[in-house]
Amino acid sequence: MHIITSPMALKDLVTQWHQQGERIGLTPTMGALHDGHLALIRALTGKASRKIVTLFVNPTQFNNAEDFHLYPRQHEADIALLQKTGEVDALYIPHKEDMYPQGFSTKIFVSQFDTMLCGADRPGHFEGVATVVTKLFLQTQADIAAFGEKDYQQLCLIRRLVKDLNIPVEILAVPTQREVDGLALSSRNRRLTPEQRRQATQLPAALHACLIDLRHQHPLSEALARCHTTLEKAGFIVHYLDLRKEETLEIAEKAEPHTRLFVAASLGNIRLIDNMPIF
Ligand code: AMP
Repeated sequence: MHIITSPMALKDLVTQWHQQGERIGLTPTMGALHDGHLALIRALTGKASRKIVTLFVNPTQFNNAEDFHLYPRQHEADIALLQKTGEVDALYIPHKEDMYPQGFSTKIFVSQFDTMLCGADRPGHFEGVATVVTKLFLQTQADIAAFGEKDYQQLCLIRRLVKDLNIPVEILAVPTQREVDGLALSSRNRRLTPEQRRQATQLPAALHACLIDLRHQHPLSEALARCHTTLEKAGFIVHYLDLRKEETLEIAEKAEPHTRLFVAASLGNIRLIDNMPIF
């Protein structure tokens, strides 16, 4: 596995690969890797002949300095894990100065998805995401890139961005990977105390119970209210809990195919998100 830190070295490698007719698959990450990330890398097998993973804790997508500071960083363990999989051809760990040279002043704002759900809660977050992902597409010259459904709004936004800017990269969506008790894998889970980790199980459980209510034709507002109460009783502060249309993320009036439940809720200062399709 090549370990690359400079955009020039990356450019040389990907240019060579393209000259050799290789198809480049990208998995962008912020590190502290887990099986969710590995599922993305695996999903590219057969769709890309060369795989690049990027590892960059992108400062511009954190609207909260403490969250950025506390975000788990474990580069050595990440490198060892990727090496062990034997599935990755290159790991790109750019320096902040290369990603954001002095005077950096370009931002990408995807208006359709930027200010709703997590965008409303975390001003500037998706501008940071859209900008860094565009840079990674350009730097890696990826032909295909994998993104997790766990960050469903991010996935919608990236699809929109690629379409709007004619970026020639295929977007591959990968289903959410979960712990055995249902909690969606996330680098942030490492920050949960044992007590919070136990409470966290209630998030997917409450969402799942709400799905069952909706499948049994319970009125939407009642099902959502019950779910909200369950989460608050479990110790969460609920930021949003909505049923939305999968493609546009507009509020859905009723549970029907192509709608999804979306939740963001915090335990202490740790914010967790999840989503589940209605059928
Ligand atoms: P992150 O390192 O958290 O920025 O995530 C990098 C990529 O991994 C994003 O496309 C995420 O959606 C994806 N991802 C993170 N957690 C999961 C998970 N539990 N299941 C599937 N994909 C995930």
